[in-house]
Amino acid sequence: MDKQRDFVLRTIEERGVKFIRLWFTDVVGTLKSVAIAPAEVEGAFTEGIGFDGSAIEGLSRTYESDLLAYPDPSTFQTLPWRGDIDPTGRMFCDITTPDGEPAVSDPRNVLKRTLARAADRGFTFYTHPEIEFYLLKSSKYGPEGPQPVDSAGYFDNVPGGTAHDFRRRSVRMLEDLGISVEFSHHETGPGQNEIDLRYADALTTADNIMTFRTVVKEVAIEQGVYATFMPKPFSEFPGSGMHTHLSLFEGDQNAFYEPGAQYQLSKIGRQFIAGLLRHAGEISAVTNQFVNSYKRLWGGGEAPSFVCWGHNNRSALVRVPLYKPNKGQSARVEYRAIDSAANPYLAFSLLLAAGLKGVEEGYELPPEAEDDVWMLSDRERRALGYSPLPASLDHAIEEMERSELVADTLGEQVFRYVLANKRAEWQDYRSQVTPFELTRNLEIL
Ligand code: GLU
Ligand code: MG
Ligand code: MG
Repeated sequence: MDKQRDFVLRTIEERGVKFIRLWFTDVVGTLKSVAIAPAEVEGAFTEGIGFDGSAIEGLSRTYESDLLAYPDPSTFQTLPWRGDIDPTGRMFCDITTPDGEPAVSDPRNVLKRTLARAADRGFTFYTHPEIEFYLLKSSKYGPEGPQPVDSAGYFDNVPGGTAHDFRRRSVRMLEDLGISVEFSHHETGPGQNEIDLRYADALTTADNIMTFRTVVKEVAIEQGVYATFMPKPFSEFPGSGMHTHLSLFEGDQNAFYEPGAQYQLSKIGRQFIAGLLRHAGEISAVTNQFVNSYKRLWGGGEAPSFVCWGHNNRSALVRVPLYKPNKGQSARVEYRAIDSAANPYLAFSLLLAAGLKGVEEGYELPPEAEDDVWMLSDRERRALGYSPLPASLDHAIEEMERSELVADTLGEQVFRYVLANKRAEWQDYRSQVTPFELTRNLEIL
């Protein structure tokens, strides 16, 4: 630890870093940042930096508002986009109360707590996200709706096109920030892109996703376009998901891998999937936290709508990808509901908790879905036991309210905050009279 602190202090000096941004994430998943001078860094490591937690979404109540941010030296990086003029560094922070207790409402702490629970059982949790987003000409839009930067589609190579340069520049920046990118391509929608981060332990991945969103937004500004992680900006094009590949390791062994088993998937792997399936509805208000998230889940475009699993079946909620021969260590399951606007710390906590519950309680994995579940009738789906995911944020809130798993994992304070925040969003949404109603009803009624 001290070695890491020394390294940070030395790097700041050697590179002439002028500002250090301390980053943390509010409960909704928005990145927060406070800049400190190099002379303050040593003190920040030992005493933290005080701030008013009640001014940050969900962090604290006004009568206990003082909180401290302690930078995590292992996350130090210099930010490439602040350029050579004023080199700027950044570190993610852990939030504590004034008496040094980890703040129960800090999403990073919620994830650390959940990872520690898994570690007690001998498991480390790895994640690998495929992050989809749209590039638009601007965040402003007229009666035509948002304008994508191109009209390309899945895997299209657009030579000299915005998206091509955009991905190259973003990937470069991410690599400069120590974030490995595995894959990047144009997605199905016009202006839609996907960048996949290499798998890492879930805390690192969650930090990386927060950095990723900032990098993508910064590169967009630099290139005169706008990037959005909104789950479903266009009704006629696919939404932006953040399919996440999940695996548990025991030491250096992948606990999902069993040579010779069906799909080389171990009992732990099967129970983990069963946990994801059984709790998918309850965790939905966090993995898919906005009114708009449900427009994606129920709007086609390869987003999952029904709770089932399959081997390489893209209509399933959980997909077991094909493993490459002799690559047992890459055994994993892909959770396809989560979208690009989720708070990654809270969403990963709940995915892990749901899967672990399946392992702890020895849940039985239902038979796999072999059909395209979107093509079946409701009756057929019911007969096969594929229940729907929540149809709206309202349904998701109802399922979450009843969930012991979510309350235990998030902790009472975050649990209540998320519910209150989501209820308020639903209330606001419900009170709108939409263009849909006006066009349908005004003239004929
Ligand atoms: N965009 C789709 C979704 O919303 C996913 C497409 C894909 O399979 O990568 O989940
Ligand atoms: Mg994709
Ligand atoms: Mg995928």
